[in-house]
Amino acid sequence: MSDCLFCKIAAGQIPAAVVYEDEHMLAFEDINPQAPTHTLVIPRTHLPDLAAAEPDHEALLGRLLAAAARVAAQKGLSSYRTVINNGSGAGQTVFHLHLHLLAGRPMGWPPG
Ligand code: 5GP
Ligand code: ZN
Repeated sequence: MSDCLFCKIAAGQIPAAVVYEDEHMLAFEDINPQAPTHTLVIPRTHLPDLAAAEPDHEALLGRLLAAAARVAAQKGLSSYRTVINNGSGAGQTVFHLHLHLLAGRPMGWPPG
């Protein structure tokens, strides 16, 4: 956790283009955007992935989704996709729970 990239971003030790923050959550632009809008929303609390969430984390998970909707509204988005990759097999590369907010291009279904 001390060596976690997103913990360092949350602590302001590594710069990021922050678009939203509150006591519990931080949202910043993805460094390698996969869509015209590609924003990451993270809890300030370190959880490696969604699977690590316990009953105590239910409020945190709700706040994560609420923050994503708030950022989308702040950006004036009406259509967008939210994604959480859990595990390397699903494409997770940074092991601090984060939600991808993607918008601004057609979204295929099913996702790749
Ligand atoms: P994952 O693949 O784990 O679901 O998503 C990790 C995301 O973090 C990727 O979309 C990747 O581009 C983004 N990312 C990795 N390193 C950095 C960084 O240093 N700064 C920012 N803003 N995004 C990063
Ligand atoms: Zn972390």
